[in-house]
Amino acid sequence: MNVRNCKKCGRLYNYITGINLCPACREELEDKFQEVKEYIYDHPDASIQQISEDCEVEIAQIKRWIREERLTFSDNSVIGIECEVCGALIKTGRFCDRCKSDIAKGLIDATRIPQKEEPVTSSSKSKGKDRMRFLDKH
Ligand SMILES: [Zn+2]
Ligand SMILES: [Zn+2]
Repeated sequence: MNVRNCKKCGRLYNYITGINLCPACREELEDKFQEVKEYIYDHPDASIQQISEDCEVEIAQIKRWIREERLTFSDNSVIGIECEVCGALIKTGRFCDRCKSDIAKGLIDATRIPQKEEPVTSSSKSKGKDRMRFLDKH
């Protein structure tokens, strides 16, 4: 059995490939995701930084959700992340439409593009939401 320390709280848990959090933290993150989703629904013009501050969630986490295509934004939203191939601004996922079609045509080998890990400025040492601080450089 593969046991690891949770990236967030440090507890041991049964590791499932690709998941770095223990079940409790995963659940907490899922609640946060719903909160963020509702926030974006209510504030379609909010920037990532605003979402991060109002929902108390790290910018890196928001970007991760965008890359996972769980969060999407309208075309006129100010929010965007970079295409991992060419750096163009995109609204969701990992690649822009042009690079996506190049990947589909086999012009770009997607398996050779390293998946970007957004650095998470972890708040693992501070317990409790009130003391949560965001160390991201803005
Ligand atoms: Zn945990
Ligand atoms: Zn691109």
